[in-house]
Amino acid sequence: MTQPRADHDGPPEIRVRAPGKVNLGLRVGPREPDGYHPLVTVFQAVSVYEDVVATASDDMTLTVSGPQAHLVPTDGTNLALRAAQALAEYAGIDAGVHLHIEKSVPVAGGMAGGSADAAAALLACDALWGAGLSREQLHELAASLGSDVPFGLVGHTAVGSGRGDVLTPALSRGEYHWVFAVRDSGLSTARVYAEFDAMTGAGAASLGPDSDLELLQALRAGDALALGRALRNDLQPAALELAPELAETLATADDVGALGVIVSGSGPTVAALARSRTHAQAIATALTAAGVADTALTAVGPVPGARLVASPG
Ligand code: ATP
Repeated sequence: MTQPRADHDGPPEIRVRAPGKVNLGLRVGPREPDGYHPLVTVFQAVSVYEDVVATASDDMTLTVSGPQAHLVPTDGTNLALRAAQALAEYAGIDAGVHLHIEKSVPVAGGMAGGSADAAAALLACDALWGAGLSREQLHELAASLGSDVPFGLVGHTAVGSGRGDVLTPALSRGEYHWVFAVRDSGLSTARVYAEFDAMTGAGAASLGPDSDLELLQALRAGDALALGRALRNDLQPAALELAPELAETLATADDVGALGVIVSGSGPTVAALARSRTHAQAIATALTAAGVADTALTAVGPVPGARLVASPG
């Protein structure tokens, strides 16, 4: 078991890094009586990371740093604190923790930053408290916190069904280069789903088993061109309805030769697939120069899920 790091001044700490995600395919079925929508999605974890640092403490407290830290709640509604609480209850542990989140994933951006924080907090608290939970137990706790949290644990590439929490690993060859066009104002996932319902009525297509064939074939072959053509997001029309300015972002990325461009999850982040690292940088520059993104991040995928890392210094 990993021991808390104590070879520095101050209390022992555990650092866990967890990735944000992009939905390469997101198919959404009609709303069910319980209010949820069945999904079939292909997740790819990308190298935009959250670092969660856990330190022993008498209470459960949280701080956040990063450019959008002011947008993140630090009370008991924070998903990372809820994760720590859930793990303590599950494992019957009477201990506190201070969590510090170094946030890079856009807040309310459709890249599952909060879910990454929760996945990281589970792993960090498990190690800090020596709880020794199995991968399956961590997955079960993750799913109870939110449908994107299990993917934050496993990372790489996976097909999610149910609410996105039932995961099957997918084969993927090679490395894909991305640009994420970030907007300062987020979009609420709940509002985007409500708009989806209003736009589709009862007419949302039922989810067939093989609609992602083209996408999965492209990933298996390591064919970025084919992947670009196969990107699909059923929530995109709803996100565009709520944030019409995203149409310009999509068009600009297309104009500078992106292989594919899509709203990421519930938006408003727009994900553009590039031919190479250099091409990704060129797209990022074009997006910010055109004023259609407040920030443009470049990243690669797929990358692993939440994992312990050595603290710097
Ligand atoms: P998803 O793609 O899973 O729908 P998202 O990336 O759009 O999520 P998040 O940044 O994960 O959105 O969080 C959405 C909202 O949840 C935030 O606006 C914030 O109020 C709340 N929240 C709770 N915990 C966190 C956290 N650790 N980080 C960011 N937001 C959090």
